[in-house]
Amino acid sequence: IKASNSLSVSLQAKMSRPVQARRLEGIDKNIWVDFVKLAATYSKVNLGQGFPDFPPPDFLKEALVRALSGEKDMLHQYTRAFGHPLLVKMLAQFFGKLLGRDLDPMTNVMVTVGAYQALFCCFQAFVEEGDEVIIIEPFFDCYEPMVKMAGGTPVFVPLRPRPSKDGRLMSSADWQLDPAELASKFSKRTKAIVLNSPNNPLGKVFSRGELELIAGLCVKHDVLCISDEVYEWLVYDGKEHIRIASLQGMWDRTVTIGSAGKTFSVTGWKVGWTVGPDRLLQHLCTVHQNSVYHCATIAQEAVGQGFQRELELYGKPESYFVQLPKELQRKRDWLVQSLDAVGMKPIIPEGTYFLVADISEFKSDVPDVPDSSEPYDSIFAKWMVKNKGLAAIPLSAFYCEAHKNNYNHFIRFCFAKEEATLKAANDILQKWKQEKTSP
Ligand code: PMP
Repeated sequence: IKASNSLSVSLQAKMSRPVQARRLEGIDKNIWVDFVKLAATYSKVNLGQGFPDFPPPDFLKEALVRALSGEKDMLHQYTRAFGHPLLVKMLAQFFGKLLGRDLDPMTNVMVTVGAYQALFCCFQAFVEEGDEVIIIEPFFDCYEPMVKMAGGTPVFVPLRPRPSKDGRLMSSADWQLDPAELASKFSKRTKAIVLNSPNNPLGKVFSRGELELIAGLCVKHDVLCISDEVYEWLVYDGKEHIRIASLQGMWDRTVTIGSAGKTFSVTGWKVGWTVGPDRLLQHLCTVHQNSVYHCATIAQEAVGQGFQRELELYGKPESYFVQLPKELQRKRDWLVQSLDAVGMKPIIPEGTYFLVADISEFKSDVPDVPDSSEPYDSIFAKWMVKNKGLAAIPLSAFYCEAHKNNYNHFIRFCFAKEEATLKAANDILQKWKQEKTSP
């Protein structure tokens, strides 16, 4: 009797009802999981995922050591849910200065687990079943599943490339929105637009004119703006990063998102933040308190000290926010030259630590797979890491399913790397080029 009882219990224990919530349907695949694994298995040089392989600044590492081993033992315990007091105070002062308004650290700033969680909070807090959210393509890939998970419908509008003249290299500024096409995407159902300037993957820095166009439509249609500005300090050639929240009518409808990962070259710390009006941030707080609750105290303390230093050195040559873009511009120029020399035409980025290059001239080496549903650039990037040991990310990863084949002959490289890494990439490319030309 005992044996038959345990058999029936074990039969009952096996679940037959579906376990997956409907909101997860169609969003289970993630390009990064595949490409990070491929890079780990095959790459000799990894210019794929976006993270620096150089150390963060000493002042930040020292701040973390001080926080860890100093006398303030409470830094090992929970802190304020919506942001550690020192960090929100510094963020309010810093962004208050940049936006030209008084910010209240308690109501106008919320700290998150990286910019990723800030984005998640925004979509959960603002997007209802049936709402539309405008996303500019190419886009940082998590926007689409996050909108869908919240019950919303993503509506895509592309940046369209204008061919460059006189044989000069294309710039990310050559990729532009068509004003009429953008306007046509706004409707009564539109709840928000996601803006990402400087843009991952192209490195485009939206101009004042482009931002005014977006702002005008937001005001006209009473739409929110989720402004992902994680690369705000990484702009080159004297370009200016303009915060859309500073434009007329936009403060009240914009959440600005930032990341210590990109700001201080510590992507693994996962400290991010949102800045905006209380009427918007209070709803982000509701999502935050019912999901993550709060972020690692010690990392927040160190980032707070980092901002304290940067506030004192604002605009001075010693400022990290002055030094980092200078250093990265040199790396960008180096990779641009290296790719151009072998015929993998780079699109010169105005910002970020990414660069997109045209692989058309390498097509003969990497045959397309007829009838494959996989975009060509994805086939190419997989071939390249397996056969040449060089990891990059296909541009199609930054388009929605229906548009993946619209621009499928580009790959994205990350140049936030040590000189030795960039040199090793150059060696691979040069060798490849020689193999191509020698009989
Ligand atoms: N937004 C963009 C445009 C990004 O490129 C990234 C990181 N690659 C994030 C958000 C996420 O930032 P974090 O690492 O701070 O979560």
